[in-house]
Amino acid sequence: MDDATRLLQATLTEAKQGTPMHSGPVFAAPFHAMGDAAGVDYTYARAHNPTWTELERALSGLEGSGQTGISTLVFPSGMAAAAAVFGSVLRPGDVAVLPSNAYYVARQLMQKYFTEMGVELRMAPTKNNAQGELLQGAKLLWLETPSNPTMEVCDIAALCEQAHRAGALVAVDNSTQTALSQKPLLMGADFSVASDAKSMSGHSDILYGHVAVKDKTLAEKLQQWRRLSGSVLGPMEAWLALRSLATLPLRLERSSANAMKIAEFLETRKDVTDVLYPGLKSHPDHALAARQQRYFGAVLSFTLRDAETANNFLASANLITEATSFGSVVTTGERRARWGGDAIAPGFVRLSAGCEAVDDLIADIAQALDAVRIGKA
Ligand SMILES: *Cc1c(COP(=O)(O)O)cnc(C)c1O
Repeated sequence: MDDATRLLQATLTEAKQGTPMHSGPVFAAPFHAMGDAAGVDYTYARAHNPTWTELERALSGLEGSGQTGISTLVFPSGMAAAAAVFGSVLRPGDVAVLPSNAYYVARQLMQKYFTEMGVELRMAPTKNNAQGELLQGAKLLWLETPSNPTMEVCDIAALCEQAHRAGALVAVDNSTQTALSQKPLLMGADFSVASDAKSMSGHSDILYGHVAVKDKTLAEKLQQWRRLSGSVLGPMEAWLALRSLATLPLRLERSSANAMKIAEFLETRKDVTDVLYPGLKSHPDHALAARQQRYFGAVLSFTLRDAETANNFLASANLITEATSFGSVVTTGERRARWGGDAIAPGFVRLSAGCEAVDDLIADIAQALDAVRIGKA
């Protein structure tokens, strides 16, 4: 069965006469729990909630393409999910290997807290599997592919093999791809981690994240971290997340196809340089991305002459909503260097293709590029 079909099936309730096809959010703090409550499924909502259970079941099916034995835990943000992996795995003296171009906040969390508490941090770029050189004595290898915002790709399966030989666990930040497109656990990773505020939920209205694992001991460690740290998702968000999941296949297919056509169009423009998109034949890791991803994704980036040109371009484009983040149903973009923290040019634009009709998007991008060029002449 295709993942898309399985995902839709996973959002349905059991067929019982006269009951809703999809369940609603369960709002509860304590649950009824009489007598010896040790075997009761739900007692107190910091530890478990039926709406999480449904969302987690659907995510486990997606992460493993239906393979059994996968446990998924949801968290209130992608960073809460990342913190759960760092916190449940790393102890003083341990070595963590991160991409030097990893999501900025993940790097900061490591540098501001975990290294202060005695974890040794090693960093190398995503491209050319450079992190593989730093694995000796490592406890955790953290990968992010394609990297964000520069779209570098590494070989998950090869790095997992290398890391496991060195005795390290592997976690993949899969936020840009989603588990529909890329399956870290099936390529050998120990943790599949994501910010699901992006393509996974897709409507720019909720923050959530998840961690999926195959190993029962790792699942228990993450459960304990969530219960002790209180890093819990609200039932309303969990329900919205489940509802959004049903359209993930449609949204991802459409936005990836749109991103491809936009990238191809941008490559024809003389006023645009460095169009970075794994779907392009010109991308250095196109073949690897084609092998390990089902979709090339919604996100692409390109560079305009300078900061002013990029700002004017975004202001002139009517169909690009200026916002950070990516993976929305509508096309969003930003001049990425406004935040600092990434090694990129001042005119670097990150674009996340939405689900609009692609001809409208390309016409709008063309008129915005022309407007900026004419304004400058
Ligand atoms: C957004 C993002 C995160 C952080 O997720 P939040 O949900 O914002 O906490 C982590 N990694 C990547 C690659 C992201 O894009």
